[in-house]
Amino acid sequence: MLPVIGQGTWNMPESGAGRKEAQRAIARGVELGMTHIDTAEMYGAGRVEELVGEAIRPIAREKLFVATKVLPSNASYRETLAAAERSLRRLGTDYVDLYLLHWPGPHPLQETMRAFRRLIDDGKTRFAGVSNFEAGEMIEAASYLEGAPLACNQVLYHLCERTIEHELLPAAKRHGIAIVAYTPFGRGAFLRSARRRRIVETIAEKHGATVRQVALAFLTRDPAVFAIPKAGRVEHVEENSGAAQLRLDPEDLAAIDAVFPPAAPGPLATL
Ligand code: NAP
Repeated sequence: MLPVIGQGTWNMPESGAGRKEAQRAIARGVELGMTHIDTAEMYGAGRVEELVGEAIRPIAREKLFVATKVLPSNASYRETLAAAERSLRRLGTDYVDLYLLHWPGPHPLQETMRAFRRLIDDGKTRFAGVSNFEAGEMIEAASYLEGAPLACNQVLYHLCERTIEHELLPAAKRHGIAIVAYTPFGRGAFLRSARRRRIVETIAEKHGATVRQVALAFLTRDPAVFAIPKAGRVEHVEENSGAAQLRLDPEDLAAIDAVFPPAAPGPLATL
């Protein structure tokens, strides 16, 4: 089963002590149940996939849920298959659990999804997904998978950016597609205003939790939503893993809603 809280890897340090610490953080996260590891061929031009590959080598493969992404510029039918092979080599694995199209790009979506279907049939990925897709194009992508499910749409979602709640999240739920929340801390935006911060701190104190655990628990309050915070430090990963057990009360959710209301419906926000 996919853990509610996984691990992002964008901007992991690619050399030196920071790289080693990041690898320790990934391994510690897996120990704590954060077995969903999200990476992409784009991150460090493949060097982050290599870092992840080294970090997970000692871990039994079946314990992990490894996700990576093809760059839209590589997402023709033939290039998708070739990019997947390169990612598998860098990750040191025969298959990934999830292969995503990083964002909508120049190649016909039907071609990319046909390649994803071929990768599923060849055992190179267990599931196919998309990222940064609006509701309509997400449903279109699903229709091209010839019976295989579209597992998820990975999108920007944090306390200060809740656009997906208007259209995308309901559409995803109707079609049985999971939402994976990226950048769940929104670059710390949710902590910047003293008034808003106090509300989150009060809820955190009540539960013996931290503000980041509260933020993650809020984002994943709907069972269709998963989150992938990135933490390059062991203590951060340990803190984030605690969010999986945190259940916010209805009054906590209402208090957060009151100070972080979703903006008006609009186009999907991306980074
Ligand atoms: P994020 O997870 O919201 O924030 C990462 C930052 O938060 C890092 O500076 C990290 O520091 C810090 N942090 C993490 N846990 C912390 C804790 N407990 N206490 C204090 N600081 C903490 O941002 P993100 O990396 O942009 O997004 C997460 C993942 O989503 C990415 O890594 C990537 O895998 C994915 N993503 C996907 C897309 C897409 O287009 N599909 C776009 C953006 C991101 P340390 O590293 O020092 O621990």
